[in-house]
Amino acid sequence: MDALLDALKARLQLQETRQLYRRRRTLDSPQGAEIVADGNRYVSFCSNDYLGLANHPEVVAALISGARQYGVGSGAAHLITGHHRIHQQLEEALARYTGRERALLFSTGYMANLGVITALAGRGDAVFEDRLNHASLLDGGRLSGARFTRYPHNEPSALALLLDKQPAACRLVVTDGVFSMDGSTARLQELADVCSTRQTWLMVDDAHGLGVLGTHGKGTTEHLALSPQHVPILMGTLGKAFGTFGAFIAGADTLIEYLIQFARSYIYTTALSPALAQASLQALQISQDESWRREHLRRLISHFRQRAQALQLPITDSITPIQPYITGDAQSALALSQRLQQSGLLVPAIRPPTVPEGSARLRITLSAAHDLDQVDRLIDQLAAHS
Ligand SMILES: *Cc1c(COP(=O)(O)O)cnc(C)c1O
Repeated sequence: MDALLDALKARLQLQETRQLYRRRRTLDSPQGAEIVADGNRYVSFCSNDYLGLANHPEVVAALISGARQYGVGSGAAHLITGHHRIHQQLEEALARYTGRERALLFSTGYMANLGVITALAGRGDAVFEDRLNHASLLDGGRLSGARFTRYPHNEPSALALLLDKQPAACRLVVTDGVFSMDGSTARLQELADVCSTRQTWLMVDDAHGLGVLGTHGKGTTEHLALSPQHVPILMGTLGKAFGTFGAFIAGADTLIEYLIQFARSYIYTTALSPALAQASLQALQISQDESWRREHLRRLISHFRQRAQALQLPITDSITPIQPYITGDAQSALALSQRLQQSGLLVPAIRPPTVPEGSARLRITLSAAHDLDQVDRLIDQLAAHS
């Protein structure tokens, strides 16, 4: 036993020497523009709560009333007796919201991605993914048993060449809508053209686009004016802009029926809490009713970008709430993050393997919960320490 633990310790020490060791903070406050972490109060630029809904009083109230009405646990998998009326209502609302025939709830985005990819592609098939895709998509591709190819980041023409070299019974192309560590948007129009002319599925994970991009917050596809025909498989999460928890796939009726039969991470797990489904339904409604949240967020993003550009800070061309500040090596990202923390600002340093070697960064995320002064404080501190 000691020898087994010693082997683990050696690997942990290696992580430490490589500056890659990760530590958790413990929060004593709800998520928000200001949080209490490890006993200290900070302005936080860390969360994916882009619309500030995670602690919205009406979302909290919906969770409480949902628990009173349905209880806390769903008590079973969807296919046994875990599928409550409120799950059904949320699925119908998500289908309307995304303009798809149907939507299917999953317990997490990670599970949705594993479930869809492994249900659609198996041995003899081929999966193609952008090399900067979220880990859950890459894991799904690997787990599927299909031939798995990563194409160069946001290069539809490179993808087309790869597709033409690999005929397969079923081919599935998968991309993030908004890349989670870069904030850049996928070239979906070109990807859709490449796929539709080649009888190939296109799946878009819009975890960071939904609720935020597009006039009505319908995500990357609304922003780029793409129809359901362009993107037949749309994945969204509820734990980011909608501030709750869970995820869904939206698409054609036949696709959803197929997933209910064959997506193992849908079938073999307890259904999402029905109280949470009620909270998500409320959050979805607020995201549409309170469009000022999106407008305020856009103003914060453009204010941040204008000031950062004027100061020649190393930001990228992201138009989303994800604003990376590239330092290059892990050590400088960590050092800058620590200096900001000493000034009361929490911004996570993102290091390999989450991002490619040599592209360590601060991952600044803005939220409708922030005000202009808070963004100015961040810019002032970045300028002072760079
Ligand atoms: C967060 C995220 C997921 C995972 O969703 P969870 O509901 O947190 O499991 C999947 N894809 C992308 C792009 C994400 O950012």
